[in-house]
Amino acid sequence: MTIISKDINKAFGILTNDDVVAIPTETVYGLAGNIYSEKAIRKIFAVKKRPLFNPLIAHVASIKGAEALVADFPEKARRLAEAFWPGSLTLLLKKKTTVPDLITAGKDTVAIRIPNHPVTLELLEKLPFPLAAPSANPFGSISPTRATHVESYFKDSIAMVLEGGPCQNGIESTIIGFENNEPVIYRLGSIAMEEITAV
Ligand code: AMP
Ligand code: MG
Repeated sequence: MTIISKDINKAFGILTNDDVVAIPTETVYGLAGNIYSEKAIRKIFAVKKRPLFNPLIAHVASIKGAEALVADFPEKARRLAEAFWPGSLTLLLKKKTTVPDLITAGKDTVAIRIPNHPVTLELLEKLPFPLAAPSANPFGSISPTRATHVESYFKDSIAMVLEGGPCQNGIESTIIGFENNEPVIYRLGSIAMEEITAV
C-alpha cells in the first residue's frame, strides 16, 4: 500500500533508509531519493521506467547546499539563484567529482534548484543530503499535481507520498546553463523570459 501522509519524519526515515518518497513541489510532485544512494537513484529510474541517460535535478534547501555540489558558481548564476530561489529555476553548474554520475547521466554538470514548497523545504532542511527528484509519473505520461495522481500511477511500487496539497504551477522548472560564463536557456518553464533577462 502506498501511504499518503503529511508526516515529514516518516518521509525522512524512508529517505535515510535508501528508499524513495514522492514529494510535493510548486511545479509538480517529484519522486525523490538521496542523490548519494545508488539504491534509491536506481529505484527512481526503475519505477518511472526513465532511461538512464536522462539526468535528474538535485533539490537542495539553500544556496550553501548548492555550493556543496558544484566546482564553480559563476557570478551570473549566483545572481539568478538569489533572485529566483526558492522557485522554479534550475541551474546547470559544473559538478564536484563527489556528485554521482548516475544522477547527471555522466555529464560534468549537475542540475540544481531550491523548490518553493514549505513541506519539502522543511524536509530538505532536516535531511543531511540533497534529493534527486524527477516528476513522479511513468516516463511519457502527464506530470502529477496531486498526491492522489502519484498514488494511482505507482500503486504499491512506492511506500509513501508526502502530502502537500495541489501544486501551484503544474509546469516544470526553467533550466539555465552557462557557456563561457554566459547564461543559456535549456528549457522554458513558468518564469517569464523578461524576468530572467531583467536579472
Ligand atoms: P525533470 O524532467 O523536470 O526532472 O528535469 C530533468 C531534465 O533536466 C532532464 O530531462 C534534462 O533535460 C535536464 N537536465 C538535468 N541535468 C542536466 C544536465 N547535467 N545537463 C543538461 N540537462 C540536464
Ligand atoms: Mg518529467
